[in-house]
Amino acid sequence: MTPPADPTSASAPSSTPATAAGDHVYDVLIVGGGPSGSSCAYWMAEAGWDVALVEKKVFPREKTCGDGLTPRSVRQLADMGIEGSLAGAHRYSGLRAHAFGKVLDLPWPEHPSFPSYGYVVTRHDLDALVNERAAKAGATVFQGTEATEPLLDDGAGRPAGAGLPSCVGAVVKDKATGARRELRARYVVVADGANSRFGRALGTNRDRSQPMGMALRGYYTSPGHDQPFIESHLDIRDDEGSVVPGYGWIFPLGDGRVNVGVGLLSTDRRWKGINTGTLMEHFVNWAPKEWELSPATCLGPPTGGKLPMGLSVGPRLGATTLVVGDAAGTINPFNGEGISYGYETGRLAAASLGEALSGDGFAALLRYEDRLEEAYGLYYRVARAFIRVISRPELMKLCVGTGMYSETLMSWILRIMSNLIRPDETGPAEAAYRALAAIARLAPEGI
Ligand SMILES: Cc1cc2nc3c(=O)[nH]c(=O)nc-3n(C[C@H](O)[C@H](O)[C@H](O)COP(=O)(O)OP(=O)(O)OC[C@H]3O[C@@H](n4cnc5c(N)ncnc54)[C@H](O)[C@@H]3O)c2cc1C
Repeated sequence: MTPPADPTSASAPSSTPATAAGDHVYDVLIVGGGPSGSSCAYWMAEAGWDVALVEKKVFPREKTCGDGLTPRSVRQLADMGIEGSLAGAHRYSGLRAHAFGKVLDLPWPEHPSFPSYGYVVTRHDLDALVNERAAKAGATVFQGTEATEPLLDDGAGRPAGAGLPSCVGAVVKDKATGARRELRARYVVVADGANSRFGRALGTNRDRSQPMGMALRGYYTSPGHDQPFIESHLDIRDDEGSVVPGYGWIFPLGDGRVNVGVGLLSTDRRWKGINTGTLMEHFVNWAPKEWELSPATCLGPPTGGKLPMGLSVGPRLGATTLVVGDAAGTINPFNGEGISYGYETGRLAAASLGEALSGDGFAALLRYEDRLEEAYGLYYRVARAFIRVISRPELMKLCVGTGMYSETLMSWILRIMSNLIRPDETGPAEAAYRALAAIARLAPEGI
C-alpha cells in the first residue's frame, strides 16, 4: 500500500496527474462522495489504506434532501471527529407530530449510544465537511470526476455469494475537460446514490415488490426558522382530501429558512398516480399559518428524488465490490432517513474491506452482508410489514389517529421509527418492537 503524494488535499480535476493515476493501483476506489462514500473513505483512510474517491460534482454542491440529521447521524459525525464543525448549525431537540387535528411534542429519547438531539444542516455544507474530513484523513479525492463505466476483470471467476462481477476500477471522466482515464483498485465501493448508474452497470437492481419512497423539498423564509423541534405532518392528503401514506415536514434551518417537503411511499399501484408536486402544494397551503409558507416566502421551485429503502437493492457484493448507502437501498422505510444509514453502511463496508485487504480476501466481503443483516435485517423486515399496514388508508388512520391520543404511545412509536430502540432495556417501546419483530419473523413477506 502506497500513501498518496498529498493525502491532505482534495484534488481539483485540473490538478490531477493523468498518467501517474493511470499506473497506480489503489487499495480501494470509491464511486460517489455523499454520506456513504465519504464515510467509507474516511474509515478506510483513517485505518491507513490507500483510498481514492471520485465525485462527479465539486464540493460544496447542492443535494436534494430534508437536511434533517437524527441522533444516529450525529453519533456517526461525532465518531468521525466532526461534530464540533456543526457548532453553527441548527440544533434541535425533538419532533413535533401533527395528525388529525392533534399536536404532540416528542423529545428525542435518552439512549446509551446516541445523543438526545439532532441538527438541521444543508447538504451543501454537510457533505463538503465530511468529504473534507475523508481527504484530511488521507483519502485522495478527485472532485468533478465521474466514473462512467466499471473496469471488469473478465478472467476472474465469480466466487459463490458474489452477485456482481469482479470490478477492478473505473473509467473516469474529468467533467471540466472531458478527458477520460482509468483508475484501478483492488476493491471498488459503489456509493453513487439512489439513481446508481454505476451500480446498475455492474448489475444491481431494485426489488420492485419492496416499498419505494418519492420526496420533494423546497426552501422558504419563515419566522419559525429557529424552532427547537422539527415538524412532521402525518396526515397529508391528495386532491380528493384522502390521507396518503407519507408525511409532510417542516425542518427549521436556524438561518432564516425552513426546509419544507413531502414524502410518499409507493407500496403498490394505488399510489402511482399521485403527483408529489400537487401534494406539496396542498401541504404548503395547509401547513400551520405561523410558518408563513406562501409563494412570497418560497425561495425557489422544489426539487425531488427517490428513496430506495429497506435494503431493496442488490446484489450488494461482488468478488471485489461492495455497495453502500442509497445505491444499496439502505434508507429506513419507517421514516425516510438515509444519511445515518449512508454513514453506517460506509463504515461497515470499510470494516469488511480492511479485513479483506489484511488477508481474508473475499471471505471478508461476505461478512459485509452478515454485518448488514445483523444491523438492519430484522428491523427492516418489521418496517416493511408496518408499511404494508399504513398504505391501507383505513389502517393508517387507525394507527396514527389512535397514537395521537397518547403522548407515551407516540414516544414509543418515535423511538421505533427512528431506530433508537435501547438494546439493554425492557421499556414499552422495546417490548412493542419485540412484539412487532416476532410477528415479522413469523409472517411471510407478501402479506
Ligand atoms: C427529498 C429528499 C429528502 C430527504 N430528506 C432526508 C432527511 O431529512 N434526512 C435523512 O437522513 N435523509 C434524507 N433523505 C435521504 C438521503 O438524502 C439519502 O439517503 C442520502 O443522501 C444517501 O447518501 P449516499 O451517499 O448513499 O448517496 P448520495 O447522497 O446521493 O451521494 C451520492 C454521490 O455520488 C455522486 N455520484 C453519482 N454518480 C457518480 C459517478 N458515476 N461518479 C462519481 N460520482 C457520482 C453524486 O454526485 C453524489 O454526491 C432525503 C432524500 C430525498 C430525495
